[in-house]
Amino acid sequence: MTIATIQNTPQNVEVVIVGGGLVGGLCALLLAEAGVKITVIDAAPPLTDEARAKGLLAKRDARVWALSPASLSLLERVGVWSRVVRHAPYQGMQVWSRDGRGVLDFGDLEQAHSDQEKILLGSMVEPSVLSLALQQVMQEQLGASYLQSKRLKNIERFSEHWSVTLESGESYQTPLVIGADGAGSMVRELAAIQVEQLDYKQMALTCAIRTEKPHGGIARQVFLPSGPLAFLPLANHENQTSAEHDCWQSVVWTLPAVQAQDLSDLDDTALMAALSHASGYVLGQVTAIQSRGVFPLKAQQAKQYCVDGLALIGDAAHVIHPMAGQGVNLGCLDAAVLIDALLHDRARGLWANRQTLKRFERERKLPNSVMMHGLSVLGWLQSSDQQWIMWLRGEGMQALAQLDGLRRVIGEQASGRSAVKSTRYRVMS
Ligand SMILES: Cc1cc2nc3c(=O)[nH]c(=O)nc-3n(C[C@H](O)[C@H](O)[C@H](O)COP(=O)(O)OP(=O)(O)OC[C@H]3O[C@@H](n4cnc5c(N)ncnc54)[C@H](O)[C@@H]3O)c2cc1C
Repeated sequence: MTIATIQNTPQNVEVVIVGGGLVGGLCALLLAEAGVKITVIDAAPPLTDEARAKGLLAKRDARVWALSPASLSLLERVGVWSRVVRHAPYQGMQVWSRDGRGVLDFGDLEQAHSDQEKILLGSMVEPSVLSLALQQVMQEQLGASYLQSKRLKNIERFSEHWSVTLESGESYQTPLVIGADGAGSMVRELAAIQVEQLDYKQMALTCAIRTEKPHGGIARQVFLPSGPLAFLPLANHENQTSAEHDCWQSVVWTLPAVQAQDLSDLDDTALMAALSHASGYVLGQVTAIQSRGVFPLKAQQAKQYCVDGLALIGDAAHVIHPMAGQGVNLGCLDAAVLIDALLHDRARGLWANRQTLKRFERERKLPNSVMMHGLSVLGWLQSSDQQWIMWLRGEGMQALAQLDGLRRVIGEQASGRSAVKSTRYRVMS
């Protein structure tokens, strides 16, 4: 038999997952744990080569993911979290407005508790650090079913299954395709699922910085007329001095596109001065900068999360403003809710039928939409310089600051616990 014939003989699998980022990877590991026969196709190259891995982790990333307790619990369950080489737990979040009206605190800002007593809001981890751990676990647990550096070419629907072909020639037959292939999802496009989009005409300028004062495990966000500026705790690094302990942070600065571009063109000294000033010197001067990135910002949602035998999860289904640090967390919740629904019906002899996928869509689409539109409104309110809106947002923040109950509800939503409380992936508090 020639290689061409081997490649053209389709393999039968229960699920093909397109995209092996955090969301697709988590989905794959949860399915593999339950003994489901899967194949993961990921265009990203392997990071696990020793030399490459060392180089990869030598520098701090230009951005971090703020992972919620629910995401951490899922990653612990599949054995990824214990492989993460560095991360920064945080126990408090402080949000304030530069016009001086309103400060909003979440979690524990007093720092009076010992490390054991602290209740964590989550942990900050650099994407490259997490991707390395994820790839290692996927390689070990999925073996040959994890295809790296492979691109999807086409998917075609037949009466009971999908035919999936890769650019490299392999093909698969499967009753279920999961599209976890990010914001520009090819799966979504090939399945003719439309998206609703809102271009914020803003960009996020990101970088790693060192400040004079330590962050103390607190994430900080100031609302400026141009958009929010966040300082997020970064993990300590093996190559840093003891004086730098807890002094590195990750910046996400949302700005109108032109302003972001202008700032990103500044040299390090000028950008450090701009950041120190914009943050109101909350942690003193910014004294060093490492790694920079600029990301265009948009909100996007697929009109449907599923069609027959196909589901979209993560950024393939929805993209939100990074202001609340929830994008990848919503994707992890999608994965947990989808896999729980699939396994529940599998135990009854059903696999990937329309009702199961619709149930997943019902459970996830509304909360994701609420988050997406809520952030769009908040962004608009915060960036407006009209007097009455400035007054309203100051009053709103002050009122919210007084309402312990409401703050607890917001904190509970952000933790992701309520989304998985009726699934097998329930998070114990
Ligand atoms: C500035 C910024 C800050 C952010 N901060 C946070 C934060 O603090 N917390 C948070 O939760 N979220 C944050 N996010 C959002 C977060 O980065 C995304 O929500 C997350 O990366 C989405 O994960 P995903 O796995 O769905 O998609 P992706 O990470 O985009 O992964 C998609 C995968 O699919 C693969 N792929 C794509 N096309 C194909 C193809 N044709 N064939 C095969 N494979 C393919 C890619 O190689 C990739 O591995 C932030 C985003 C930005 C821009």
